[in-house]
Amino acid sequence: MTRGLAVSADAIFQRCIHPTCGGTAAMDDTSFACPKCGGLLDVAYDWNRLQPPTSLTWFERKWAERSDPLHFSGVWRFRELLPFAPPEKIMTIGEGQTILQKADIVGQFVGLNPGCLFLQYEGMNPSGSFKDNGMTAAFTHARMVGANRAACASTGNTSASLAVYCSATGLMRAVIFIGSGKISYGKLAQALDHGALTVQIAGDFDDAMQRVQQVSKKLGIYLVNSVNPYRLEGQKTIMYRILEAMRWEVPDWIVVPGGNLGNVSSFGKAFIELMELGLIKRPPRLAVINAAGANTFYQLYERFGLRWNNGAPKKDVVDGYFRSLDVEKIRAATIASAIEINHPVNLNKALRALDRCGGVVREASDQEILDAKAKVGAGGLGCEPASAASVAGAKKLRREGIIAPSDRVVCILTGHQLKDPTATIAYHSTDQKTFDDVLGHRGVRRATYANRAVQVPNELDDIIKAIELYS
Ligand SMILES: *Cc1c(COP(=O)(O)O)cnc(C)c1O
Ligand SMILES: [Zn+2]
Repeated sequence: MTRGLAVSADAIFQRCIHPTCGGTAAMDDTSFACPKCGGLLDVAYDWNRLQPPTSLTWFERKWAERSDPLHFSGVWRFRELLPFAPPEKIMTIGEGQTILQKADIVGQFVGLNPGCLFLQYEGMNPSGSFKDNGMTAAFTHARMVGANRAACASTGNTSASLAVYCSATGLMRAVIFIGSGKISYGKLAQALDHGALTVQIAGDFDDAMQRVQQVSKKLGIYLVNSVNPYRLEGQKTIMYRILEAMRWEVPDWIVVPGGNLGNVSSFGKAFIELMELGLIKRPPRLAVINAAGANTFYQLYERFGLRWNNGAPKKDVVDGYFRSLDVEKIRAATIASAIEINHPVNLNKALRALDRCGGVVREASDQEILDAKAKVGAGGLGCEPASAASVAGAKKLRREGIIAPSDRVVCILTGHQLKDPTATIAYHSTDQKTFDDVLGHRGVRRATYANRAVQVPNELDDIIKAIELYS
């Protein structure tokens, strides 16, 4: 039952993702940058000494023991595959109780055969987004190293998640950095209501991200952004739960919206490790969907041909691209605020994930994102705009023939519908001004699948007539 947990510390460490660098850091190091080259770090395991399970079905037995919070958590019941924390240090609030839903109505919209589209609904997490999968892991690591303050920059969901973990456990003070005017009300409401110290700086997410790294270094505050490799360990479990829901069969495609590219990076690591451990025979293909207004990854991967290149992605291509963004003063701009990011911190890890998992990148316009979001809502599960990029992207890949009609496709719905009611209301609004104010300037021309309220005088006859007419 405690396989893989009673281990000596050096079977677990942090390792530079670039194979030729060879930089390492101790498990409890919190600088989250390679000491040799400054690059990204992985949490690395010496699996030979950790004895992970030899079959994935082994995990099923834990459900019978779900009165144990570590077996109830959709993250920690897979802890033998992220074995960095001793059980008594694990901080869980019941995250990861999420569902994989077969979604034929949305599947038809995407262009897939019945039974082929699945939506992994991560909005069911305690704070309403997938971020809780990672936060429980980062928070646990923070506790292992004795931190009492944790910070993040956020487009909203990371901060909401951190605020929930801090308030629910009372163990840490949350310090969150947000850009001005860029955060949806649902998410800001969470940060404030859960008592996080909320620092709103005059700038956008990319600015806030730079500042939080400087500040947390200066003040020794534990950083929970997705440069933190422990967070990504928790997010691997989204893939384990999908496999579990598919009776341990690997789907053909995982489609995920891309912002800071932490999620796709963790998915890639999950599959690389499952292959290494001989627990699966092949990985699924990965598709990352950018918003067209924040499409750095799409540009670099599909237009400039940037690749992992055995751990040495062409730095001049990346630098040149960011220089051109600066010169042309291009800032990220999309209704999908959770992915409104032009400097993705996990770029190189994402390249590795796509290299190992036959990846592709696409972009979706705000029009396509909102139309897909309306279809997702009409199909049963609601989501916030960024999440719907996955469905819009799957539709595009289907149309291009890259996804076949018979492929089994899982789109990740990263965040809950109620995170951003403003966008939803504007889309369905009967009032042109509301539509224009929120969406018009973003190039959204029509609400293709709007479900508008019917306006009637307060007269019984008129109300009855309207219902008969429209139902
Ligand atoms: C954070 C977030 C994303 C982006 O995920 P990355 O790991 O940063 O690429 C997408 N959707 C939602 C709802 C999010 O909160
Ligand atoms: Zn390095």
